[in-house]
Parts: sequence; structure tokens; C-alpha cells
Amino acid sequence: MSSLALPDNPLIDRYGRRISYLRISVTDRCDFRCVYCMSEDMAFLPKKDILSFEEVEAIAGAFIARGTTKVRLTGGEPLVRRDIMDLVRSLGARIGHGLEELTITTNGSQLARHAEGLAVAGVRRINVSLDTLDPERFREITRRGRLEDVLTGIEAAQSAGLEIKINMVAMRGINDEEIEPMMAWAHGRHMGLTLIEGMPLGEVGLDRVDTYLPLRELHERLSRRYSFTKLDKRTGGPARYVHVAETGGTLGFITPMSHNFCESCNRVRLTATGQLFLCLGQDDQLSLRDAYRAGGLPALNAALDQAMLIKPKGHDFILDRTRPEPAVTRHMSVTGG
Ligand code: SAM
Ligand code: SF4
Repeated sequence: MSSLALPDNPLIDRYGRRISYLRISVTDRCDFRCVYCMSEDMAFLPKKDILSFEEVEAIAGAFIARGTTKVRLTGGEPLVRRDIMDLVRSLGARIGHGLEELTITTNGSQLARHAEGLAVAGVRRINVSLDTLDPERFREITRRGRLEDVLTGIEAAQSAGLEIKINMVAMRGINDEEIEPMMAWAHGRHMGLTLIEGMPLGEVGLDRVDTYLPLRELHERLSRRYSFTKLDKRTGGPARYVHVAETGGTLGFITPMSHNFCESCNRVRLTATGQLFLCLGQDDQLSLRDAYRAGGLPALNAALDQAMLIKPKGHDFILDRTRPEPAVTRHMSVTGG
């Protein structure tokens, strides 16, 4: 199938939204323990429950055959999964055959050794998560990472020709003073910067109410100092973008808490164990692994039809001091950020 051909049975949910974007969490494990994402003592899934690459390829193939054009590998940290580049290469071979874009979200710690391989496999753009440029603070936020490794990885990725977008979770009292310097740093190196609001996913040990920083407030603060021009650019994700005249770069805002982007949601998420989550903020799910293991491709396609019937209309995250528990008990690293 050429990338322009429309499939016979596209994935369209009951609200008429076409599912064109699949995010695959290839592992729930990670070499960091970011304070907003994981607890210090995370229990990880047993390796035997994790989908094999053959199963991931079969599931991704079924999505692509039904009109999914964009696949993002995420986690956990995708680049810590053993032999991950085998999967990257096999999915990369589908680019131009239904798949338009293969991309990855990474913490950058392993990027130095994989950047070239990603580029050769057909990856063009990557997201690197980085919340601070201060080595000490980096250590505190990630609980164990080394800023230097990430910066080396970013350089390697740029040398390999990969376009990079930096994702930064904005946290009051933690890194909110670093936003302007981060923007100058990223834009000065031809990278976009996207700010993300912290989401209440899983128990992590961070006080989410106190550190929650509405991006509307940040937008106001920044627009007093910088001239923004709204961009139409959509990358198949929920971010809204502006061009910043003073730096010549692009700034994105992902505002799941204060802005509802569900009406244009085009995505679903596959966990490392083959659960398909239909919404980041809801529990609706089904097991594609069980379907595929029980009945191969026909059963997998039947499960995808079922998935289109249960995709919820939207999430209803709320932050409430009287209800300190997370809105959704599973961590971002399980569902795939
Ligand atoms: N390990 C990779 C990384 O950090 O880029 C990929 C997985 S990580 C779960 C994907 C993204 O989710 C990262 O940009 C991270 O900052 C973000 N994230 C994790 N937990 C979050 C939360 N509770 N609220 C908002 N963003 C979160
Ligand atoms: Fe790991 Fe990414 Fe979660 Fe940080 S945000 S703990 S790097 S999965």
C-alpha cells in the first residue's frame, strides 16, 4: 500500500475521530526515576509479560494497514530495551509503505550510541525530555541521571541529522525559573522547546498540587517579554505552537490540565504488555496481545474494531487538594508518554 492509498477499513471511533497515531511503550523500565513520573521504588512488569518484537510488529502492522501513519516509540525509556534497534529497523522499513513517520521519545541517556542507527533506520525527528540544564537539579529531578550523558546524546543526534524537540515538564518551585534560559539554549541550537503541564498519573512522591504550574500563567509571563506568533503547525499531537520572534524558534505548550484537546484526539497507546489504552486519562482498554495470541491477525482486527467502539470521548483530569490521590493510578511510564 502506498502512503497515499486509503485503507478499506480505516480505524474511526464512534465520535468520528480517525485513529492515525499509535504510541508504543516498548518497556515500562527506565534508567531514571523522574519525580513526576515514577516513585523511587517502582515495581516493574515481569519480562515474560512483555510483548515480543514479533508481536509488536504484527500489531503495528495491523494499525498501519488500517490507516495509522505515525508511530512513536516510548516507554519507560525505549532505548534501554535490549535490541531495541532491531525493532526500530523493522518498523523503519515500513516508512513509505503506509507509515509516514516513525519517531521516538527518549530521555537521551542512551542517545549517543543510538543516534546514528535511528537516522539510518529512517527516523527524522525525535523528542528528548529535559527539564533542567543544571547538573545538580537534573540529578534531583531524575533521581539518578547524568545531565552530561543527555547533552552528549543530543549532540550526537544533531550530528546524525535528527531534528530534535525538547520536552520540559514545567514545575512550580522546581524549574520554573529556567524556562527562559532553556528556550534560549534550545532555540540557539535549532531545537524546538515544548512545555508540558504535570499530569496526575500514578503515585510518585511529588506534591503535584504545589508544583502544578498552569501553562496559561507561563504563556502570559513569557508573552510579556517575547513576541509570539501563533503557528498552525500540528504534529499529530495535542501541542499548540508559537514562533518566538526574539529567538527565531518554536515554543510548544501541552496543556492537558487546563485545555481540553480530546475532540481532535487521533491517538491510542499500546503498553509493553499489549494492553491498548484508548485514552491517557481513562481506563478503557483491551488486550491486543491476548487477541493476537488467541486468533492471529483476524482476532487482532476484531479487537481493533471493538477498540473503536470503546474509545472514550475525553479525559476528566482534575487536581483537587481534597483528593490527593492521582486521577489515574497507572504511571505515565506504563501507558507510554
Ligand atoms: N523516558 C522517555 C522520556 O522521558 O522522554 C519516554 C517516556 S516519558 C513517560 C514521556 C514523556 O512523559 C516525558 O517527556 C516526560 O517528561 C513526560 N511525563 C512523564 N510523567 C508525566 C506526568 N505525570 N505529567 C506530565 N508529563 C509526564
Ligand atoms: Fe523515565 Fe521518561 Fe519517566 Fe523520566 S519521564 S522516569 S525518563 S520514563
